[in-house]
Amino acid sequence: MEIACLDLEGVLVPEIWIAFAEKTGIEALKKTTRDEPDYDVLMNYRLEILKEHGLGLNEIQEVIATLQPLDGARDFIDWLRERFQVVILSDTFYEFASPLMKQLGYPTLLCHRLEYDADGTVTNYRLRQANPKRQAIVAFKSIYYRTIAAGDSYNDTTMLAEADAGILFHAPQNVIDEFPQFPAVQTFDALKEEFIRASNRSLSL
Ligand SMILES: [Mg+2]
Repeated sequence: MEIACLDLEGVLVPEIWIAFAEKTGIEALKKTTRDEPDYDVLMNYRLEILKEHGLGLNEIQEVIATLQPLDGARDFIDWLRERFQVVILSDTFYEFASPLMKQLGYPTLLCHRLEYDADGTVTNYRLRQANPKRQAIVAFKSIYYRTIAAGDSYNDTTMLAEADAGILFHAPQNVIDEFPQFPAVQTFDALKEEFIRASNRSLSL
């Protein structure tokens, strides 16, 4: 049996913080792990900006609900779920992802959580565990599932390496160059072909 493990942001949906920054016009929220590699520093900075703008969970979810999955993502997920057990492994938060997951038909999602007050003020965040994407693959392997994983960025590479097969999808050139051991594709059709190639089942597209 095989489990298909997918990253969420950049693969199925836009980068949520970037899209949220664009929708709200808050430039400061465009800072990413590329600008600030310390995730704790980055998240505390983001929470501070939200507070400054009086944005709580309700306002955030309203904005995120106006976002849409990437073109072709829903069809791809439906195709994949007919052929594999599908699990999304993401560094986003359930509270952010839920409006988008609805549009993807609620596939299984393992990610982090936000803490918030009764009035919706975001007070803190809770990471699921250290190195969560890789650890999920380790767990699936421990119950004897083969795993095929796809992601677009640095935070996916330990997951891709741990999986029986790893695929780069929508990855920027610097990531492709740095990790030549993974096949790299840019379209959902090509990604389907890579999943079939990596699978031990012979299935037609
Ligand atoms: Mg990503």
